[in-house]
Amino acid sequence: MRGYLPDFDVCVPASLGEALALMAQAPGTLTPLAGGTDLMVVYNAGRLKATRFLDLSSFEELRGIREEAGALTFGALTTFTELRECRAVHQHFPNLVKSARATGALAIQNRGTLGGNIANASPAADTPPSLLAYGAEVELRSVRGSRRVAYDRFHLGYKAMDLAPDELVAAIHVPLPTGRGFHYFRKVGTRQAQAISKTCLAAYARIEDGCVAELRIGVGSVAPAPIRARHAEAVLLGQPLASLPMAAAREALLADISPIDDIRATARYRSVVTRNVLGHMLRELATL
Ligand SMILES: Cc1cc2nc3c(=O)[nH]c(=O)nc-3n(C[C@H](O)[C@H](O)[C@H](O)COP(=O)(O)OP(=O)(O)OC[C@H]3O[C@@H](n4cnc5c(N)ncnc54)[C@H](O)[C@@H]3O)c2cc1C
Repeated sequence: MRGYLPDFDVCVPASLGEALALMAQAPGTLTPLAGGTDLMVVYNAGRLKATRFLDLSSFEELRGIREEAGALTFGALTTFTELRECRAVHQHFPNLVKSARATGALAIQNRGTLGGNIANASPAADTPPSLLAYGAEVELRSVRGSRRVAYDRFHLGYKAMDLAPDELVAAIHVPLPTGRGFHYFRKVGTRQAQAISKTCLAAYARIEDGCVAELRIGVGSVAPAPIRARHAEAVLLGQPLASLPMAAAREALLADISPIDDIRATARYRSVVTRNVLGHMLRELATL
């Protein structure tokens, strides 16, 4: 059954400063509302507790994509459509474009935001593997000021984040890659659109003198939160493209992931397919 509308209230502060002050006065009592594409599903299912929403939509400080200090900075309210349409994102971060294209369908991409995708903390969300692969940082803001957290330390467990009750996700900073890069993104779902991932893998590698000089692999839907595949990365780092230890990397990935059975896939399916996707990624990397 749906939530009961009179149980809900929407607070529309005049400024971001006022919003942060309200959050500080009564931490945890206001629910930030960005695109609403996750929150309205929970409301519709009757699983959202009575709350005051904090409408973020009018805060220009949380919008826009800009290049600064060797990074692209994405305001938390950046939509998937904006990610898809931004030339600089195509140029530097093709995995983010693919993640955005793979999210829901056009209506969701028009409303859903990058900040919401992160703060909803679903292990199956589609931009987190790409953000992990690109070494992103999350900027959090409260009345106490701003702080940055490396995105690979932001998710602490299932729906648990390094985000205080009085903090907002303000922006996501993604360092511009340098040198010869390899980008890979693959989402496996039931359909090409409107499908939550059964598994999702994104990778970024920098190649120097024919060897893997830098590598980050992000995976989704195979652990309580989006994670880096650090064991697999360690096996591959420094290796020549001509003789990548593919079997050892696939084996090492087992130590990174802890998939479960759910309505979308079995743990065994997720384990086998994620390793197959890693194998596909490595065969593409080897031909660079
Ligand atoms: C039909 C449908 C299909 C979907 N398909 C996909 C898919 O394929 N892949 C995928 O990854 N997701 C999918 N989603 C989920 C959803 O669209 C995304 O997670 C989206 O990014 C959420 O963003 P939002 O702005 O709508 O968040 P909201 O619903 O507004 O908020 C989500 C959560 O984040 C919190 N929040 C939002 N912004 C901030 C902020 N700046 N600071 C702190 N907390 C914040 C909210 O309080 C809430 O807890 C789908 C949803 C629907 C309804």
